[in-house]
Amino acid sequence: MTSQCRAIVTETTGGPEVLVLREVPIPVAGRGELLIKVAAVGVNFIETYQREGIYPVRFPFTPGAEAAGTVVAVGEGVETFAVGDRVATAEGVGCYAEYAIVGADMALPVPAGVPLDVAAALPLQGMTAHYLMNSTFHVEPGQTVLVHAGAGGVGLLLTQMLKERGARVISTVSTDEKEELSRVAGADEVLRYGGFAEAVRELTDGNGVDVVYDGVGKDTFDGSLASLRIRGTMVLFGGASGQAPLFDLQRLNDGGSLFITRPTLKHHLRNVTERRWRSSEVFNAVASGQLTARIGARFPLAEAAAAHAALQGRRTTGKVILEP
Ligand code: NDP
Repeated sequence: MTSQCRAIVTETTGGPEVLVLREVPIPVAGRGELLIKVAAVGVNFIETYQREGIYPVRFPFTPGAEAAGTVVAVGEGVETFAVGDRVATAEGVGCYAEYAIVGADMALPVPAGVPLDVAAALPLQGMTAHYLMNSTFHVEPGQTVLVHAGAGGVGLLLTQMLKERGARVISTVSTDEKEELSRVAGADEVLRYGGFAEAVRELTDGNGVDVVYDGVGKDTFDGSLASLRIRGTMVLFGGASGQAPLFDLQRLNDGGSLFITRPTLKHHLRNVTERRWRSSEVFNAVASGQLTARIGARFPLAEAAAAHAALQGRRTTGKVILEP
């Protein structure tokens, strides 16, 4: 094996153009770590927030927490994985690269029958959908749920998983193509963003929905609150349109004794047991054909900047992956 590999490196915050391809030393697996040869990298919104400086990182920085690949070296003390194993992760280090380090505890075995590109499309968005509907607000059969960005990576997975649970799903999307994808995923009603809160009221006999899953943030926040039933729950889990504004708690009273929470994935992967519970349910659902991961766009590793621009420009559907 040569000692150099290609990786995306950024020296500063900025637009997509700060993501450049470099030759870097192949990282070395330390104690409790795996070195994987990356087959596919999952691109996620958090990397755009890191690139823009919304979430501070140390420079030079190689983004990427989600990938799937083959173990090529194991560090001291690793007993759970061996060279040649196929693994995926939502918690890797510097995954926009040909080789990346994954803590053995953070590695997820990829079941037979799940190709590595599909495996790279699942951990972060799949486990997010899983905790949102099981842990943040446990959705029960028959409940009505509003899912924003219904044709996005989280949106398509969450919609399918909610329908499997027996919930009624109302989604929002921006285009006809996205509407079609959201419907195929199972959404019962697909809305455009303009006037969505009023449309939700009409669709729910004036009552509102039990829970809103809002990863769009700034542009949808007020409408999401206005879409809830009395004692409904607002789950703000991202800010694809920008971060939601500061919030006056009195609005929860006015809106009908509402609940609001702002969860994040890392607090729902507290240990190996929790990680394996979520990941095995997601991976097994894909392996059995119950859940479909749509890879909406593939970019060569060198075109990471184009992938970020497409994601932020609302031009993607489902998962965006990079292929080293
Ligand atoms: P998506 O694939 O859903 O892409 C974002 C989508 O948001 C777009 O495709 C677009 O769909 C919609 N959108 C609405 N307004 C805008 C806007 N102004 N600019 C850009 N996009 C907009 O991304 P992900 O599935 O990866 O992530 C969705 C959200 O979930 C993100 O906010 C992300 O940060 C968050 N997230 C949070 C996690 C957590 O644990 N808290 C974990 C994973 C993701 P349309 O064109 O149909 O409106």
